[in-house]
Amino acid sequence: RAKELHRNTFEFYTSELTERAIEHLTLSSEMRQALERNEFELYYQPQFNLTSGRLVGAETLLRWRHPTRGLITPYCFINIAEDSALIDPIGGWVINQLCRDVAGWLKGGLKLPRIAFNVSSKQLEHYDVKGRIEHALQRWGLEPSDLDLELEVTEGALQHEERSVEVLRQVRLLGLSVAIDDFGTGYSSLSRLKHMPIDTLKIDRMFIRDLPDDPNNQALASGIILLGRALGLKVVAEGVENVEQLRFLQERNCDEAQGFLLSKPLPKAAFEKMLKGEGLPAIPPASLTVVRK
Ligand code: C2E
Ligand code: MG
Ligand code: MG
Ligand code: MG
Repeated sequence: RAKELHRNTFEFYTSELTERAIEHLTLSSEMRQALERNEFELYYQPQFNLTSGRLVGAETLLRWRHPTRGLITPYCFINIAEDSALIDPIGGWVINQLCRDVAGWLKGGLKLPRIAFNVSSKQLEHYDVKGRIEHALQRWGLEPSDLDLELEVTEGALQHEERSVEVLRQVRLLGLSVAIDDFGTGYSSLSRLKHMPIDTLKIDRMFIRDLPDDPNNQALASGIILLGRALGLKVVAEGVENVEQLRFLQERNCDEAQGFLLSKPLPKAAFEKMLKGEGLPAIPPASLTVVRK
C-alpha cells in the first residue's frame, strides 16, 4: 500500500516535471516571437513621499500581453528569459520603451518624478546594460540630466560579482541612481554595503506584510529603515496594502512607499493621468498619525 502510494507520487511528480519542462520550452519559444510581435508592455507603479504625500517616483514593471494567456507578470517568465539569452533583448526593449515614454511626457510638458526600472543580476553580469541605457537615451534625445532615472537590482548582484558592481558605478557616473530591490531577502554584507554604489534601499514586501502585528517584521522593517538612514540612503517600502502599514512606516520615518493601497501598477495612459494630477491617492500626513506606544 505504502509502496503503491510512493509509486503514484513518483509518477505524479514525473508527469508534473514533464509538463513544466514543456511549459518552459513553449514559453521560451513564444517569448522569442513576443518581441517581434510587440506583445510586451510597460506598467508604472507610483511611489509616494510619506511626509508630503507627493508622487515622487514610479517603478516601471514589464507585462506580457500573451495571445492566449492574457496579461502575464514577469514572475512567470523573467527566469525563463534569464536562462536563455533573451533577457538581453527584453531588457533592451524595456529601457528603450521607457525612454520613449519619458521623452513623450517631457515633450508634452509634464514634470516627471523619478522613474525606476528593474535589471536582473544576469543582465548586469553578462550583458552591456550601460551601453543599452546610453543607446536608448541618445535615440530618444534625452540627457541623463533631463530626468531622474533609477536602476533597481536585487542584493544578489552585489554579492560576488566585481563586474556588476563596476557597472553600477558607471551607471551612476552616467547620472542615474541605483536602488537595491527586495532588500533583506538576500545576504548583503553590511560592511560591504557601506562601500556600494547605491542610493536607495527598497524594503521587500515580505517584511511589510504583517505590520504592525508581527513583532519580527516590526523589528526588521524598523531596522532596515535605521540602517538606510545610517548609510545615508533613501528607504522605500514595497507592498504597502493597508493604512496600518502606512502609519507604521510614517512613524518610523520611512521616506517613501509603493503598494496597492496607494496605487496598483498602471498602464501608461492611467499613469499619465496621475502625472497630470488626476486620481492621486490621499495620504494622511505623517504628523497627524497617532504615535504608537
Ligand atoms: P519587484 O521589482 O520587487 O516589483 C514589485 C512587485 O510587487 C511587482 O510585481 C508589483 O506589481 C508588486 N506589487 C506592488 N505593490 C504590491 C502590493 O501592495 N502587494 C503585492 N502583493 N504586490 C505588489 P510584478 O510587476 O509582477 O513584477 C515581479 C518582479 O518581476 C519584480 O519584482 C521584478 O523583480 C521583476 N521585473 C518586473 N519588471 C521587470 C523588468 O523590466 N526587467 C526585469 N529584469 N525584471 C522585472
Ligand atoms: Mg523592483
Ligand atoms: Mg522589489
Ligand atoms: Mg519583489
